[in-house]
Amino acid sequence: MFAFFIFGLFWGSFLNNVAFRLEREEDYFFSRSKCPQCGQFLSWKELIPIISFLWQRGKCCHCSTKISWRYPLSELITGIWVYLLALALQTKFTLLSFSQFIFYFSLLSILFVLALYDWKTFLVDDRFIWLAIAIFLIYYFSGLYFKVVKDFSFLLNYFFDFSKFGPIISGLISSSFFLFFFLITKGKGMGFGDVKVAFIIGLFLKIGDAILSIMLSSFLGSVYGIYLIIKNRRWRQSLPFVPFFFLGVLATIIFGMHITKPYFDLFKI
Ligand SMILES: [Zn+2]
Repeated sequence: MFAFFIFGLFWGSFLNNVAFRLEREEDYFFSRSKCPQCGQFLSWKELIPIISFLWQRGKCCHCSTKISWRYPLSELITGIWVYLLALALQTKFTLLSFSQFIFYFSLLSILFVLALYDWKTFLVDDRFIWLAIAIFLIYYFSGLYFKVVKDFSFLLNYFFDFSKFGPIISGLISSSFFLFFFLITKGKGMGFGDVKVAFIIGLFLKIGDAILSIMLSSFLGSVYGIYLIIKNRRWRQSLPFVPFFFLGVLATIIFGMHITKPYFDLFKI
């Protein structure tokens, strides 16, 4: 399991770079990493997650410009979430178990890139929405989807049993909450990007899990929103919402059972 943490550190470095290059509209998959200040290409020694940052004391070796905290932070956070995901799914090195890991790992990775990008630009990049849809379709049409999709908040899924309508309905229901907010605020309170992100969450997760994720995201988002209002003493605040989607989905996958089980135990179902 520790291997997942180490892999996650490197993966976080990659995801952060993808988001960073997306912001600058660079060719974001096939170019070598370089210092954004002096343009010097980085050697492998400067690309080791966390370690390089600490070793270089947070500065570029060539021009001594301070390296943003964003780099080691997204590496560490990704190391942790990849580890927790593998733990929650009890990933084993079998083909099926690994396909299951990749399924949720893809969703969380895409949400992570979109979260970093949203945080900086308040935008959602459509190419990543399409990428998520493409991955989902591969799982769906190969039949793998039905083998890997999991009940995280099991009894919640029991009450919202739309399973016969399938993931498209789950996607539409999830996004309809945000579409509603988008329409009543005329696009000022909620961007249309958030509607699309809610849709892919619904595609990947069972309807009960998708609803739990959205409830958790909204709760965390409002706490942060209230914090911003108090801090800036202004009512109108724009809020990047994708980071909260990411946290809501992650919390559902890791704690879903623990959040919903005590509640349902009260009714002795
Ligand atoms: Zn430099």
